[in-house]
Amino acid sequence: MEILERARVEWFAAAFGLVVGTTMVFVPYEFGAALFQHIYTHVRPLGSLFLVGSATMLVALLYPSWPGVVGWAGRALFVGAVSFYWWSTTVLNNSMTGGILYPLMVAALLLERTSRFQGRGLLAVFTAVVALCFGMLMTLSPQVYLRFSLLPVAPLVRLMGVLFLASGSLLAVGLWRKQPGVCRLALAVLGLLFLNMLLALGARGSWAGMGVYSVLALACWVLLLMRQMPSPVGVRWRLFRGMALASVLPILGLGAVTSTLAQRALEAELREKALQAVAAETAWLEQTATMARSLLRAQSRDVAFVATARSGDREALRERVDLLENDSGLFDAAWVLDDTGETLVPSTRLDRRTGNFSAREYFQHALKGGDEVLLSRPFLTSAGLPFVVFTAPVDLGTGRRLILVAGLSLRRLGLHPTLASRSYHVELFDRRDGSLLRETDRGDVLSRAPALELLAPGALSAAEGMAEAFDPKGRRLMVAHAQVAGTPWTVVVTARLREAFAPVTRMGAWVVVIALVAGAIALVLSQWVGRDVAGRLEALRDGFAALGTPALEGGQRVQARGDDEVSQLASGFNEMAARIDRTQKELREAIAIRDQFLSMASHELRTPLTPLKATLDLLIRQSESGQELNPERRRATFSRLNRQVDRLTRLIGDMLDVSRLQSGRFTLTVAPMDLGTLAHEVVERIGSARPERQGLVSLEVPSSPLMGRWDEQRLDQLLTNLVENALRYSPPETPVRVRVVEEPGGVRVDVEDRGIGIPQESLSQLFTPFYRARNATEHYAGGLGLGLAICREIVERHGGHIQVRSAGPGQGSCFTVRLPRAAVADAAA
Ligand code: ADP
Repeated sequence: MEILERARVEWFAAAFGLVVGTTMVFVPYEFGAALFQHIYTHVRPLGSLFLVGSATMLVALLYPSWPGVVGWAGRALFVGAVSFYWWSTTVLNNSMTGGILYPLMVAALLLERTSRFQGRGLLAVFTAVVALCFGMLMTLSPQVYLRFSLLPVAPLVRLMGVLFLASGSLLAVGLWRKQPGVCRLALAVLGLLFLNMLLALGARGSWAGMGVYSVLALACWVLLLMRQMPSPVGVRWRLFRGMALASVLPILGLGAVTSTLAQRALEAELREKALQAVAAETAWLEQTATMARSLLRAQSRDVAFVATARSGDREALRERVDLLENDSGLFDAAWVLDDTGETLVPSTRLDRRTGNFSAREYFQHALKGGDEVLLSRPFLTSAGLPFVVFTAPVDLGTGRRLILVAGLSLRRLGLHPTLASRSYHVELFDRRDGSLLRETDRGDVLSRAPALELLAPGALSAAEGMAEAFDPKGRRLMVAHAQVAGTPWTVVVTARLREAFAPVTRMGAWVVVIALVAGAIALVLSQWVGRDVAGRLEALRDGFAALGTPALEGGQRVQARGDDEVSQLASGFNEMAARIDRTQKELREAIAIRDQFLSMASHELRTPLTPLKATLDLLIRQSESGQELNPERRRATFSRLNRQVDRLTRLIGDMLDVSRLQSGRFTLTVAPMDLGTLAHEVVERIGSARPERQGLVSLEVPSSPLMGRWDEQRLDQLLTNLVENALRYSPPETPVRVRVVEEPGGVRVDVEDRGIGIPQESLSQLFTPFYRARNATEHYAGGLGLGLAICREIVERHGGHIQVRSAGPGQGSCFTVRLPRAAVADAAA
């Protein structure tokens, strides 16, 4: 139902304007029916107005966001064109269909724009009203509609009217009751009825009528077949309208200009040719008349001829006259009359008819006309043949005269082929009475020249000229005319414009077909490209929506096909999504590590606090009860307390160090020192702190001092960490070896144990903060995974290098530190 309520008459009007305008501009000579008599001369400008108006309307429809003035300009031009067309073709011609159709269309077009119908379309309502009006007119006065139907007999036209009425009412009811099924049925019937009218007009070659009914039929089919209004959004729509405008309109516009120019050029050429034909025709006639005159004058004044006439020897005179008929070939007949009109010598070719011809007009003129050679009006000879004659008086002296008559057969004249008669319809008439001497169409003679009926009186009075006229059937004619000098004759050459312009019409039609085919191809291609691009953009849109959710198998979120911008966008999107995935993963890991660290840190901090608290409670209770510990136990208690506090201090120190390390505030204070001495101190301190491991930590150092510029406190921390780890991750009783050796340019420290070892996969990550190997967490819960990270930082800050080797779990491990003699920062200083 949506399409029925929203389809606009404006689309219909734009399509109608384009079709009619295109026809008028491209094939103007096809507007040949009498119906178009009043617009013949304005067909092309009117067509241009239709084209510009409807194209502007179309642009406004396709780009609804453009200023409203564009649409109004288009509608104004269109309404102007329709009004003129309506007035000249329907009102002045009493045409019923157009008389109803166009006002309805304009009314609906303007009504749609009022606020009452905002957002609604009246195309369906308009179709129903048109159908009802047509139906009514057809049933009431079928005769008017006979020409609009392929059905040959009147009762069937009535039937058509009934069908129109029925389907129009059905459509109206369907629209009223909002029943799409009923509407569709009515539209299907209406589509067929309009198609019938379209074919009927097509069979009559009426281009304008075909335009109107094809658009009406199309409107029915569109309303019938389309389920909903296409929504004017998205890449496909933009491509569609862009292509529609960029392909069809420029081709039509350019085609219109070219075909108008071609038509003009051809028209000019046609005029030129017609004038040439007239000139050739008049030249030929003038020559004929001049020759006839001089021949006759020469004969009539010939001394021998006059002597023969005077002698009264008719036989001898006949021989002379026969010469005129035979030899020159110019005249079809010649005879001699005496001054009473009696035949002295009859024409051999006219069956030797004799008699008194004093009543003939040519004889009377010749008698009165002095000694001039005169040309008669066309007449029928006594033998019933159409002739025109030249007369010359023959002066016999002593006041007697004879009349020498030589005639031209109009039949022969009519058949004579000339340049003009080959391409045009030629008329030759006598201006004195308008009677025909030559007519190349049906060979009419003596009747009134048809050209005189076509043109306004006096139009042919000029010596020569061009004019336009319409024949009784309303066909447009071009008329070229000229007077034949020295005679009362006028030559008229006419050409039917529709036939003369058939090549231009064909060319125009081809341009339209090409524009339509190009437009169709462009639209199909645009849809094809649009579907592809829209599909890929939709995939991208879905990809964006799915950002943050886990990626599918393979990690590629959007398929990136081809090498265009969209696929680059897709690859860019995939990379971005992968980066986001990575960051998310890292964040998740970091959060997990942080959580783990927090639980471990709190556990680690509590571990020394519990015994610390218990010992302090014991000491308080003892001091309250006044019991004194023996010095030995007190020393042991205090040293235990001290160890726990040391452990706490170290833990907090490690955490602070890692925090400094991560924020870049980890600095060294280097000074000359002896690494051998430091190693001794560390090993001793650890030994004394862990009496149970006394003697298990062996130390190898060169006897000479190992001097270098290092940060003593940090190297102490480094060695302590490594030795403590070696002890912690080894079963009791297993030895730990510390070896300090001199190397070229620096020193090397190895701390080797035979403890739990390190799994192969953990070796690379051992020095990252918070990392702990699996076997360490399983067996030795204590630890935050910070020590080695701090160790690596200390070593690298000194410009050195730390690495670890282990053959695997249970195989022990060996940490090797290489230090240059001077810390890098210091060396640089
Ligand atoms: P912590 O010892 O507090 O866990 P460290 O940074 O000192 O933190 O050590 C990181 C990890 O390296 C330990 O958890 C352990 O898995 C491993 N590790 C360090 N030293 C040894 C060693 N001597 N033998 C086996 N594993 C060790």
